[in-house]
Amino acid sequence: MKFKQLQTPSRTIMTPGPVEVDPRVLQAMSTPILGQFDPAFTNIMNEVMEMLRLLFQTKNQWAFPIDGTSRSGNEVLLASCIEPGDKVLVPIFGRFGHLLVEICERYGAEVHTMECEWGHVFDQQDIIHKIKDVQPKIVAIVHGETSTGCMQPLDEIGKVCREQDVLLIVDAVASIGGVNISVDDWFIDGIVGGTQKCLSVPSGMAPITYNNRIEAVIQKRKKVEYGIATAEEFTQKRTNMIRSNYFDLAMIQDYWGPRRLNHHTEATSMLYALREGLRIVLEEGLNERFERHSYHEAALIKGLEAMGLSIFGDKSCKLPTVTCIVVPEGIDSDNVRKMMLEQFGVEIASSFGPLQGKIWRIGTMGYSCRKENVFAVLQALESALIRNGFEPNRGEGVQAALDYYGAPSFVAVKEG
Ligand SMILES: *Cc1c(COP(=O)(O)O)cnc(C)c1O
Repeated sequence: MKFKQLQTPSRTIMTPGPVEVDPRVLQAMSTPILGQFDPAFTNIMNEVMEMLRLLFQTKNQWAFPIDGTSRSGNEVLLASCIEPGDKVLVPIFGRFGHLLVEICERYGAEVHTMECEWGHVFDQQDIIHKIKDVQPKIVAIVHGETSTGCMQPLDEIGKVCREQDVLLIVDAVASIGGVNISVDDWFIDGIVGGTQKCLSVPSGMAPITYNNRIEAVIQKRKKVEYGIATAEEFTQKRTNMIRSNYFDLAMIQDYWGPRRLNHHTEATSMLYALREGLRIVLEEGLNERFERHSYHEAALIKGLEAMGLSIFGDKSCKLPTVTCIVVPEGIDSDNVRKMMLEQFGVEIASSFGPLQGKIWRIGTMGYSCRKENVFAVLQALESALIRNGFEPNRGEGVQAALDYYGAPSFVAVKEG
C-alpha cells in the first residue's frame, strides 16, 4: 500500500495557531458519534452553551459554536447583521482588521475605516470620535491582532456604541481563553472566539455569543428554508433576508434552541473536542489561565531579550498570547524558521503584508503555553540564529528563563 498509516512527526508548536491540542481533547475526539437529535447529544450541545457563557463571561442566552474555522464566526455575525448599504466602521491595526473589511464589503456594507501603524493600537477616544462622526450601524474590530502581537483596549467603546445605538462586534479569536475579556461589562454585542488558539482544540469551529440587540436584528430578517419551514413561515415574504444560507444566524439559532431546526448537521467530533477544551479551561479557572499565559509570556520575553533580540511593537499594548520579534538585519527569517522546524521540531511563525520577513511571531497559547515549550523555542531559536549569521549572547536566553522560573543553581553563576 502506497499510503502508509497516518503518522505525524513530533512537534513543539509555538505559532499563534494552530497550537498543540491537549491530549484530553484528542481523546474526547475519538468518542463514538451520536445522532444529532439524540437527547444524549442535544444535552451535550446544551452543556457546551453553558460552558461558553462562562468562557465569555456573559449572561447572553445565545452562545454556541459555528461550524467552520474562526473566520466563520466573523462572517456569521456580519452576514446576519449587514444589509446592503449599511454603514460599518472598521478600525484596522493589522491583517485581521482587513479581513473584517473584506467580509463587510462582500455583504454590501458601506465600509468606513481608520488605520494605525502596525505594531500599535488606537486610543479608544479616537475610535469614539470616529463613531460619532460616521454614525455606523456596526463597529467591527479585532481585539487581539495576531499579525502584530497587539491588543486593542475595548472597555470604553462599547458603552458609547450602546448610547449611539451602534452594534459592537469583536474578533477575539486569538485572545479568548488567554486574556481577560468581559463581554457584558464591556457592552460587546457580538463576539467571536477561536478554538485552535488559546483553547487548544483543533481548528474547525468558531464559538460565538451575542445579545438580544443582535437577536432583534436577525429575527427581522429571518427566512426559514422551504423544506423545513412551518406553513406560516412558508407564506412570509422577506425582502431583507440574510444573504447566506450557511451563515444565517436566525436559522442556526433555531438549531441550538429548543426548536432544533435541522439547519445543518452539527460537527459531532469537533463538539466533543470543544466540550473537553472548555472543561479544561473551567477546571483551570479563567483567572489562573490568564495568569499562566502572562507568566510564560514574561519568561519568553526575558529569554529573547537576554539573547540580544528586540520585541516588535508598542509594549504598552502587547498581546500576552503572541510575542513578535524583530528579525535582525541581514538575517533570512524563513531560513531560521526552517532550521528550527527541521532540526528541533519547533515551529514558529512569520507574519503578513508589511511585516512579512520583518518579524517572527511566537505564540504562547493554551496547552502550548508551558515551561518546556518556552525552553524549546529559546534553545532552537538561538542555535538557528548562530547558524544563520547572527551572534546572540550565547546561552544567556535560556539562563534568563531559568532564572525567571527560579531554577536552582549549584555553582556560582556569573552576575548580570
Ligand atoms: C486566526 C485568526 C483568525 C482566522 O481564523 P481561521 O480559523 O484561520 O479562520 C481571525 N482573526 C484572528 C484575530 C485570528 O487570530
